[in-house]
Amino acid sequence: MTRKYVDCREIPSKSGCTVALSADSEEELLEAACQHAIAVHGETDTPELRRMIRQGMHDGTPPLEAGQSRQERTGEQRPH
Ligand SMILES: [Zn+2]
Repeated sequence: MTRKYVDCREIPSKSGCTVALSADSEEELLEAACQHAIAVHGETDTPELRRMIRQGMHDGTPPLEAGQSRQERTGEQRPH
C-alpha cells in the first residue's frame, strides 16, 4: 500500500500554513485534509474542496523541506 500525503506548503494560502498530512488510504487522507481545511483555512466542505484536495495528493511521505524556497540553509542539524 502506498502512503499518500498532502502538503499545505505547496498551496499558497493567506495563513502561510505549513501543515502536511499523510495517511495509508486516499479516503482517510481526504477526510483529514478536509477537516484541516475547514478548521484552519475556513473552507467549506464542498465537492469542489474535495476535488482540490485530491488534486494536491502525492504518493509517499511529506518531504522535510518545502519545495518552494525558504530561508537559506545553514547546514545546522536539528535534534529530533
Ligand atoms: Zn493548512
